[in-house]
Amino acid sequence: MTDLTTLTLAQALDGMEKKQFSSAEITNAFLGAIEKANPHLNAYVVVTAEKARAQAAQSDKRRAAGQAGPLEGAPLGIKDLFCTEGVRTTACSNILGEFKPTYESTVSANLFRDGAVMLGKLNMDEFAMGSSNETSAFGNVVNPWRRGNEDTKLTPGGSSGGSAASVAADLCLGATATDTGGSIRQPAAFTGTVGIKPTYGRCSRWGIVAFASSLDQAGPIAKTVEDSAMLLQSMAGHDPRDSTSLPNALPDFRAACQRSIKGMTIGVPEEYRVDGMPQEIEDLWRQGIAWAKDAGATIKPISLKHTKYALPAYYIVAPAEASSNLARYDGMRYGARVTGKDLVGSYEQTRAKGFGAEVQRRILIGTYVLSAGYYDAYYLRAQKVRQRIAQDFRDAFAEVDAILTPATPSSAFGLGEKSGDPVAMYLNDIFTVTANLAGLPALALPAATDSQGLPLGLQVIGKALDEESVFAVSAALEKAAGFKAKAAKWWV
Ligand code: GLN
Repeated sequence: MTDLTTLTLAQALDGMEKKQFSSAEITNAFLGAIEKANPHLNAYVVVTAEKARAQAAQSDKRRAAGQAGPLEGAPLGIKDLFCTEGVRTTACSNILGEFKPTYESTVSANLFRDGAVMLGKLNMDEFAMGSSNETSAFGNVVNPWRRGNEDTKLTPGGSSGGSAASVAADLCLGATATDTGGSIRQPAAFTGTVGIKPTYGRCSRWGIVAFASSLDQAGPIAKTVEDSAMLLQSMAGHDPRDSTSLPNALPDFRAACQRSIKGMTIGVPEEYRVDGMPQEIEDLWRQGIAWAKDAGATIKPISLKHTKYALPAYYIVAPAEASSNLARYDGMRYGARVTGKDLVGSYEQTRAKGFGAEVQRRILIGTYVLSAGYYDAYYLRAQKVRQRIAQDFRDAFAEVDAILTPATPSSAFGLGEKSGDPVAMYLNDIFTVTANLAGLPALALPAATDSQGLPLGLQVIGKALDEESVFAVSAALEKAAGFKAKAAKWWV
């Protein structure tokens, strides 16, 4: 019998529908795989085996009764940024201690409503701040991919490193993730998986631990473009509990994957050809352009003039919002507390011990750029830059239907290689932050391997609310690329 963990989501749902196997069986297969792999990869920080088995049993009953939902019986992993009722949720920070939410995030609730099974909570950078998963209070995740025959440990990217690694290593059929500056797309690119950040407001932020509220957006990491469309269909939708949640009806994302891209115009922004970009990334991009042309699209050079200001603007706006959002962790109402000599002392001790170094750096930067006297020079200025970036995209989308870029400036790097240099680390987000600043949907898909055998990703950016074009172009590129490589399972 085939190893059930290697199926795509679409194949697994099909297999259950045809009664080839049950949710209980595939759930057990994943729990077994996690048991073997997790000591090596550290992708899960909590494994909810009992809950998963109970949900799977319920799911099998529903299917037998003819009440199968769109994701009926599908075992998924949930990033530890999503509050899960009764299951420890820490955003991989010590400051949340053993926090067990009394409620379920809208996104995870939507998945369960549609029949999904939860395998556990996935590792991530602390409060989603990072690009390598090295800021997690539970230790880094290890990328299942390796350079050739070397055993150097590589990062799966971040902040959704656990989500990406678990999908790449067949430790779930798909995973939830979040993207504030690239945290879905960069890890997807580093692990040969597909990740989409939808239009800002498509997925409810209710019950997701907040990092930078005007940029945070949930989305899936999956094995294929079609799987990512199916997961997003369930995750997204209007939620009155999030004031920025969009009321717009959801199109059929899976159907959009079948659309022809003949006659579409795809923009290629010259500003994304950055200095020092490896030749392999350049070649990948050129190849992507050729594939789109072959599929009948017209390619058009475009200019996104303010691109070079995106990263600096992001590293003002995101820390500013983070410093405000993280003010609530005072050790009084929930999470861990370190008792000081008085109330202020307790606040200080709790925050000094509870937050890791990167989170403290962000809070300091954020507090500084929001302080009297500096607000206009930094925060307000960054907001203006943000408007310019959004306008660049609006101008471009008057002429093109989608934009094609590389997803990241490099393939996965070694653990520890960049952790001493925050600026080098921040450069990972150079191609991804623009879509967050402008609120646009963007998808990363695996397209090739580099000379070391590591996956490289392309990015497709769409107009606001036009995920359908993003899926259509991505599915066409996926088909042309025929990317079939998998990480060798060196841990079994
Ligand atoms: N790497 C970026 C950061 O550290 C983006 C993180 C994210 O998207 N959550 O802020």
